[in-house]
Amino acid sequence: MLIDGNAIAKQVLAEVKAGVAALAPVVPHVAFVRVGDDPASVSYVAKKQKVAEEAGMKSSLRLFPENVSREELFAHLDALNADPSVHGILVQAPLPKHLGETEVFNRILPDKDVDGFTTQNIGRLAQEAPGAFAACTPAGIVELLRRSGLVVAGKHAVILGRSLIVGKPAALLLLAKGLDATVTVCHSRTRNLAEITRRADILIAAIGKPRFVTADMVAEGAVVIDVGINRIPDATRKSGSRLVGDVDFEAVAPKASLITPVPGGVGPMTVAMLMKNTLAAAQRLANA
Ligand code: NDP
Repeated sequence: MLIDGNAIAKQVLAEVKAGVAALAPVVPHVAFVRVGDDPASVSYVAKKQKVAEEAGMKSSLRLFPENVSREELFAHLDALNADPSVHGILVQAPLPKHLGETEVFNRILPDKDVDGFTTQNIGRLAQEAPGAFAACTPAGIVELLRRSGLVVAGKHAVILGRSLIVGKPAALLLLAKGLDATVTVCHSRTRNLAEITRRADILIAAIGKPRFVTADMVAEGAVVIDVGINRIPDATRKSGSRLVGDVDFEAVAPKASLITPVPGGVGPMTVAMLMKNTLAAAQRLANA
């Protein structure tokens, strides 16, 4: 059975839209910052702005050239932090090396860090503190599992990938009280990977390698969440390419009890959770 990320994201966004309407006259405002013209970043930010506007929020975008200085970028972030009409701030990754991603993320006030990348929010997530902003992709994965009616408690969740954006926060969320999964996190130095993945009740693939997870790596009846977004050549397409996940979908789907497609699985949930976080930030500031 397919987990329809588009349909579930639509439900989440309808709830967000209702929450936005209820907050009037305050209009939640998410401020985007993009450095350079990385084509994927251009399209991600455009998509997020479109969805924000559809949800009744305000969005704004500040562009900086690739060679922007840290001082100039920080001055802009400081201004956004100080502006009470801005509720959420998102600096689109990846950033040029000279800026230092962690330092840039940490310049954002934790209460406006709707992407959940500040040290403070990651720490609060580890502490299971209420109100921590969780990174949008892992938060989206959890929402997909919940809304698919899956009982996670006691299940063995195996996560492929240990990035700060996906793998690590996904592990923290699934491990937290309330979800109560038993979690194994794998990475490029993990030995006997297939042996571990075959023991997964829930397998989450976030490694960035096209169709890496093959049928022999998956147990019969497992739930498979494919986070990967990889563009591969495809001569049959007008564009000459297409998107595939980290899972060999055609081979794995017949074995899985539930599986997410790419596109149309985790991707739309990431955007929906950003809107959910922005609404929560606006609600918090409005009630402060
Ligand atoms: P990173 O490159 O930051 O991390 C990849 C992780 O995979 C690393 O921990 C790496 O291990 C691990 N890895 C790489 N090769 C192997 C291997 N052969 N066996 C086991 N582990 C391996 O990627 P991200 O977490 O940022 O993204 C992962 C994928 O998810 C990408 O395709 C990305 O495009 C996609 N993505 C999708 C989103 C969505 O909204 N759907 C949002 C964010 C990302 P090590 O640490 O040892 O190097």
